[in-house]
Amino acid sequence: MSLKEYRKKRKFRKTPEPKGRIKKKKGNIFVVQEHWATHHHFDFRLEMDGVLKSWVIPKKIPQKRNIRRLAVQVEDHPIEYADFEGVIPEGNYGAGKVKIWDKGKYNLISKINKAIKFELFGKKLRGTYMLLKFKDKNWLIFKL
Ligand code: MN
Repeated sequence: MSLKEYRKKRKFRKTPEPKGRIKKKKGNIFVVQEHWATHHHFDFRLEMDGVLKSWVIPKKIPQKRNIRRLAVQVEDHPIEYADFEGVIPEGNYGAGKVKIWDKGKYNLISKINKAIKFELFGKKLRGTYMLLKFKDKNWLIFKL
């Protein structure tokens, strides 16, 4: 686990995003941030191994069963990022407004190489979800 890539992409004197650090304590939060960047999207993040494992979801995360959405894995983010809302100034990586769309706890049900099954306890997202890796950084997310 590393925040190297996360930090390399950002200049912390110019962006309000947290520099953050790897957390030692085990936690189980998830967050979905709506992000008005060049392309509007949702960022889905799961706390795992002291960081937030992160995926960009171009369309809305399904709240109903059996709708599959593409989720592209991106660099790990620090746990502190789960509280981040604000505007990333123009000229910076990911420039645009970020707003928390949903947040809560989750339970990890199972995790193997290419499949993560978990239960979300958010306000908007509730129930059992699956992330399935199919190629490189490309995953599918859907509700079971
Ligand atoms: Mn984003």
